[in-house]
Amino acid sequence: MKLIIASNNQHKISEIKAILQGFFSDICSLKEAGIDHETVEDGATFAENAMKKAREIAEISHAYALADDSGLCVDALDGAPGIYSARFAGEHGNDQKNNELLLKKLQDSKNRAAHYVCSVALVAPNGKSLTAEGILSGEIAWAPRGAGGFGYDPLFLIQDLGKTAAELSAAQKNAISHRAKALEKLQKKLKEAPEFLKQQG
Ligand code: IMP
Repeated sequence: MKLIIASNNQHKISEIKAILQGFFSDICSLKEAGIDHETVEDGATFAENAMKKAREIAEISHAYALADDSGLCVDALDGAPGIYSARFAGEHGNDQKNNELLLKKLQDSKNRAAHYVCSVALVAPNGKSLTAEGILSGEIAWAPRGAGGFGYDPLFLIQDLGKTAAELSAAQKNAISHRAKALEKLQKKLKEAPEFLKQQG
């Protein structure tokens, strides 16, 4: 059974493959599936965006499709940057500018609480779907630390470990990440509802 991951991000693809390989005999990226498609992410929530991406790919491919949408929510900023995390400072994917803006907005804030969110949606060829969400709680540091990870990781402090997410190895981060938690919940739902994998178009 084929699963297309609605992404070309190698890091996400290997993480998803590792968790869901028991359920699908063939897991591939959009590129590997020969699909050149970009979803307009105009949903109001992570869950809406993930569902939109997965649904479009399932419709195009007539295969199972999985998508995720993730971001950072900061309490003192009423949940911002949220679904706008990738383009917080205006330019899509400019991590350095996003981090600088985040520090500036929090310069007078003692409340540093924040969390990463990841929503995943799995859509069957006939349109049926399963969803799950994972959260990783932390705090926004006063200055960046660490060279690993991506995005807001140098500012995302995990209190229990006393380290920012950028100071963790990839394996350490993957073990606790919001994405891993969402995928583990999805894996549990698949185990509980094996008939979901028999939905043909
Ligand atoms: P996307 O779900 O890959 O589109 O991620 C959206 C944005 O959220 C990224 O560009 C990052 O700015 C932020 N983000 C999501 N997950 C992480 C993470 O694990 N570490 C750091 N930043 C993240």
